[in-house]
Amino acid sequence: MTEEALREAVVAAARKLVAAGLAHGTSGNVSVRVGGGLLITPSGVPYEELAASDIVRLDEAGHPASGSRAPSSEWRMHRDIYASREEAFAVVHTHSLHATALACLREELPAVHYMVAAAGGAPVRCAGYATFGTAELSAQVLQALEGRRACLLANHGLVTIGADLREAFRVAQEIERVAEIYLLARAAGRPNLLTDKEMAQVVKQFGSYGQPETHSPSSAD
Ligand code: 13P
Ligand code: ZN
Repeated sequence: MTEEALREAVVAAARKLVAAGLAHGTSGNVSVRVGGGLLITPSGVPYEELAASDIVRLDEAGHPASGSRAPSSEWRMHRDIYASREEAFAVVHTHSLHATALACLREELPAVHYMVAAAGGAPVRCAGYATFGTAELSAQVLQALEGRRACLLANHGLVTIGADLREAFRVAQEIERVAEIYLLARAAGRPNLLTDKEMAQVVKQFGSYGQPETHSPSSAD
């Protein structure tokens, strides 16, 4: 993909977050890895006003290309995730309602529904509280994200990673839904949780879920 196409993809993903009810106003941010650096949404620009030219290119150290807008205040968290997680090519951060409500309780999201496997396993941990945009928040997030594609941010929101924007978005959508289910189930009673063994089976089965990549509907075999 060209850089222009990637900029368009970041804008499209950001708009999709709003359409899916996962983001509002200027909350949240989206990035993709490019070369040694990243492309990230600008800080404080409402999603509906975003254009491809607003997306900021940062080098490995986090320096913006000259003439760019100010990058997302969370650029450090995005940069540090790419530096420490080689499988991550996209990062999505949201303040989606139910994931954030759980993060305000500073609780993790347990294996209440098998779809928590979208995060790569359970529980989805809650990173310790630190002010938005700080190196301390970034460090807390890296720790909570270990072995997962998602973590909550105490009194703040959710962050997800993926091999591409589609995956990072899907993980954010699924974890938000599981958080909603968990809060509903907790309000109604005491939810039963899946065991580690049951979750391991789900994670394994997801390896072959859906349509095999090498087969298309028109393939002969
Ligand atoms: P930005 O507009 O700077 O990306 O900030 C939004 C946000 O969610 C900060 O945590
Ligand atoms: Zn935020």
